[in-house]
Amino acid sequence: MSDTDKKIVIAVDGFSSCGKSTFAKAIAAKLGYIFIDTGAMYRAVTLYALEKGAVSADGVDTDKVCALLDEISISFVFNPSRGASDVYVNGRCVEDKIRTIEVSSLVSPVSAIPEVRRRLVAMQQEMGRERGVVMDGRDIGTTVFPDAELKIYMTADPRVRAQRRYDELTAKGHNVTLEEIERNVVERDHADMTREVSPLRKADDAVVLDNSHMTVEEQMTWFLEKLNEVKTR
Ligand code: C5P
Repeated sequence: MSDTDKKIVIAVDGFSSCGKSTFAKAIAAKLGYIFIDTGAMYRAVTLYALEKGAVSADGVDTDKVCALLDEISISFVFNPSRGASDVYVNGRCVEDKIRTIEVSSLVSPVSAIPEVRRRLVAMQQEMGRERGVVMDGRDIGTTVFPDAELKIYMTADPRVRAQRRYDELTAKGHNVTLEEIERNVVERDHADMTREVSPLRKADDAVVLDNSHMTVEEQMTWFLEKLNEVKTR
């Protein structure tokens, strides 16, 4: 295998709702790599904790959430109609349930629990052990795969991000307002950047992609240039 064929790890980190998953999914399909949406894993834990009463609008019971971790098994199953993997908890597909505003408003405090992060980071490292993965999240380039060959840090204007998430949710029939989505996006960014364990931050060797005014095609062109630089380095 030549050096240019060697499978690498591509880390895609960044702010909420800036199109990380769409971008990461597209580049994984282009390269024939596995795409892993790590946000879906934190959302799945949050949904399960919500269903078991360990978290609610009143707060997060850290001990209860930790006690549940042993009974949660997370897996991804490819869904041909979406062209992407759906997330499952204990064999139950929860792909739609994890995207609600209720889960979105509780996921940051749950993902700030060190034991939750320890477990999910270990799973993510195992999933990418053979490389050939595109992983999107908040701490992939800093904590999960600090040795990733290509690290991308995505950002976009908060208003543009809120509008995109709003369009996505209303298209699926969710009853939400643009204001509550914008509030959620800004609050999650703040919580994710200020938590103690592996906060969202740009890895020193990451390249920044601000896609506020870029189409998916333009982002792909940008990506292929960066990939070429990595492969010929
Ligand atoms: O990517 P997504 O917006 O679905 O992520 C949901 C939440 O999960 C984030 O706001 C963050 O709190 C958490 N998360 C994380 N670390 C990751 C991925 C997501 O803390 N690697």
